[in-house]
Amino acid sequence: MSDVVRKVIALSILIIGAGLLWAGRRSYHDAADAKSEMDSTIARTRERAAANDPRLKEGYRYDRDGWIYVHLEGDPSALGFQHGFLLAAEIEDAFPAVSAAMMNSTHRTWPFFRQTAREMLWPRIDPDYRAELQGIVEGLNARTGSQLDVYDLVAFNAFEELPDYYVAWLDKQEKTLNAPNLKSPGNCSAFVATGSWTKDGRIVIAHNNWTSYMNGERWRIIFDIQPMHGYRMLMDGFPGVIASDDDFGVNSNGLMVTETTISQFEGWDAQGKPEFMRARKALQYAGSIDEFTRIMLDGNNGGYANDWLLGDRKTGEIAQLELGLKAYKLWRTKDGAFAGSNWARDPKVLKLDTPEFEPDNMETSPNARRVRWEQLLNENKGKIDVELAKQMLSDHVDTFEKNAQANERALCGHVDTSPRGVSLWTWTPFYPGGAVQGKAADSEMAKEMSFVARIGHPCGEDFIAEPFLAAHPDYAWQEPYLRDMRAGPWSVFRSGEVPAAGK
Ligand SMILES: [Zn+2]
Repeated sequence: MSDVVRKVIALSILIIGAGLLWAGRRSYHDAADAKSEMDSTIARTRERAAANDPRLKEGYRYDRDGWIYVHLEGDPSALGFQHGFLLAAEIEDAFPAVSAAMMNSTHRTWPFFRQTAREMLWPRIDPDYRAELQGIVEGLNARTGSQLDVYDLVAFNAFEELPDYYVAWLDKQEKTLNAPNLKSPGNCSAFVATGSWTKDGRIVIAHNNWTSYMNGERWRIIFDIQPMHGYRMLMDGFPGVIASDDDFGVNSNGLMVTETTISQFEGWDAQGKPEFMRARKALQYAGSIDEFTRIMLDGNNGGYANDWLLGDRKTGEIAQLELGLKAYKLWRTKDGAFAGSNWARDPKVLKLDTPEFEPDNMETSPNARRVRWEQLLNENKGKIDVELAKQMLSDHVDTFEKNAQANERALCGHVDTSPRGVSLWTWTPFYPGGAVQGKAADSEMAKEMSFVARIGHPCGEDFIAEPFLAAHPDYAWQEPYLRDMRAGPWSVFRSGEVPAAGK
């Protein structure tokens, strides 16, 4: 064979091969296209079928100013189905982030949390809330085909109580080897004031939510809930969770509710009812401070132990319910102010429920903020209104170092800037957490079932994930979940509102 012929054959093989390769690719692409088209047809069909579910009829959602407003209405199953369907994308986004954090801090597996949900929590959940949780799963599955079941969702609803309360208690009971250092979280700065303390003599209530940015940037739902039983509620909340959970809300019988957690709380009652259910039930059924207290005490499991700040706009009375497990205390007044920044103050609660907490260590975030609340409330006595409340939630004074710093001691927390972190909550140096959004209302707004809210740091500063992660490789595990947290404007939300025309 001559070289020329050999070259021609080689060239022909090359051309034919390339042609075959091209044809093969094309058929591969055709198959992939066909599959993805089939998948999206199935998804569309599923979504259309689900959209025809009669339970969806009264629900709707729309986005405004960084928040997602969701109206839920009907019986428990309908409330849940609407919730799961309308917030399906947000639940599917939040679940991996929240469950990763639960497993990371506790060194426990997801099957452990599912088992806990099934064996300990589910049997103690009232039938109406079981139906609502089941409804969320059905709405979610109908919309996206999600594989999450009701035990995944119950464990997820308990993300504030299982890791830092139950597992901390369990590790002690079982003397777990190399148990992680779990401490109850320090979530939030808040106050409630009334009488001669406020501008119009009626109630003002305000709260900013402190948590990890990873969870906090997803805490952007405004739930407007009209249940078949109980009072109508307007509250902020987390996708997939039936309680507000950072706890800010008003109900149609005049109750105004918020809280801050109790730092270094210890204790759990495995026979108790889940906190997320009691908190939701109290907002839905309490028409007075006494009723609220009774519902929270009924089956108190010690989970997510809070200092509840309450107002009753019908009477002008406010209260602080310091809800320990071994002890609790209720203060109430028609002329005064109560503040919260993650400290207990009742001697019995301090002694029995928070044995490690140091109320006199002024260097710590809770005590530094306690001093700042006292300063701000006293300086503004008689002038407090919603405008001032917004400023207070944005405050950056560090009372320990006596200067203004956006750090872990500011009412508007920025722990990502602090080389100290907050050790009493096991927030390590530069922990990406702090104040993630704020809300405020007065009696007049509560009467109209409305409040003002800002997404992101209440002061308006943005948190940007990429440079933070580059500077702090310790938090690399959060990279798949941590996002930018940009502040929105202060924005008023009302119960029953519908999207403005053209939106
Ligand atoms: Zn700030």
